[in-house]
Amino acid sequence: MRADDEAQLVDVDGLEVLFAVLRGRGYTIVGPAVRDGAVMLSELTSPDQLPRGWAADTEAGRYRLRRRTDDAIFAHCAGPQSAKDFLHPPRARLWSADSAPDDDVTTTGPAPADKRYAFVGLHPCDVAAINVLDRVLARGRYPDPVYTSRRDGTFIVVAECTEPAATCFCTSTATGPGAAGGFDLSLTELLTGGHRFVVRSGSPAGADVLAEVPSRPAGADLVASAAEAVDRAAAAINRRLPGQPLPALFAAGRESPVWDDVASRCLTCGNCTMVCPTCFCTTTEDVTDLSGEHAERWRRWDSCFDIDFSYVHGGPVRASAKSRYRQWISHKLGTWPEQFGVPGCVGCGRCIAWCPAGIDITREAAALAAAEVGGEP
Ligand code: SF4
Ligand code: SF4
Repeated sequence: MRADDEAQLVDVDGLEVLFAVLRGRGYTIVGPAVRDGAVMLSELTSPDQLPRGWAADTEAGRYRLRRRTDDAIFAHCAGPQSAKDFLHPPRARLWSADSAPDDDVTTTGPAPADKRYAFVGLHPCDVAAINVLDRVLARGRYPDPVYTSRRDGTFIVVAECTEPAATCFCTSTATGPGAAGGFDLSLTELLTGGHRFVVRSGSPAGADVLAEVPSRPAGADLVASAAEAVDRAAAAINRRLPGQPLPALFAAGRESPVWDDVASRCLTCGNCTMVCPTCFCTTTEDVTDLSGEHAERWRRWDSCFDIDFSYVHGGPVRASAKSRYRQWISHKLGTWPEQFGVPGCVGCGRCIAWCPAGIDITREAAALAAAEVGGEP
């Protein structure tokens, strides 16, 4: 899949053709675009809408767009949205029921997706996040029909990451900055010696689409340049998770005083869960009309930081901020790997940038490691 002779070179104008080919195959294209002061995922009709010449500066509790001095299209870090917003939507109707005058009740399940998405320009961490969601929502014993109807038949064009943000730590989760799989096409943007892309197909569907886009063999030199750009990105990533086995660390650190410390700063607002591309928790609401003849059940995103989320008869299981933060981080980094074999975190850094209190999952994990083993955080 990464053999040099399979890599193609596509000029920037080729994106126009790529969009046309995808549209011609019935896909609704979703990709990054500047909107509302951030790089947001939007339905796109033209590559002109991509964030050409934009980047974002991030730090704990901070995200600011910045104009670049070049025309890079995919050199921006993760915005507040991810593919989750489209595949596992914030609100979905699970069923509706209507009663007829003879008291017969008709129920209708969730509406199947009316669009087939082609995601263009997701970074590798976000493709890894889709793989995490697949494990939970599609590959289990009870696949979620809302998710699978959106996920089935998606086409993914990944943009390898060449300029990570200060909040990124995908090298700790093995989810970037290079694309390892889970995509139909992979692009690596080159800016020196001309603006173009080294493109590889990762599936028969990707090869089929690529065959319709003007391209030529990339050649060994440009393939090497693309690999170097990704290697430089990996070397530029400074944030990292502790090196020791995290499931054991979180199991051992259950009563650590670090939880009191983070709880004194955490607002339990749930922002980190809303922006996280792998958080999938939901709650349900039932509504009826005034006649009592029509009822609906809706599902909406919920958060383990919401006190009602763990409510069982008599009160919430996790009443304190301390227990709620511990639950969130321990699930991401500790119990998820045990259950699924991969962490529930893909190192995108969104929760760090969009936390109003500037709480940083890597620093909290490091603090726990330092407290538990007395090592360097
Ligand atoms: S860690 Fe930050 S974003 Fe998450 S609930 Fe606490 S304050 Fe909100
Ligand atoms: S926990 Fe934070 S860094 Fe990890 S995937 Fe979620 S938002 Fe990204």
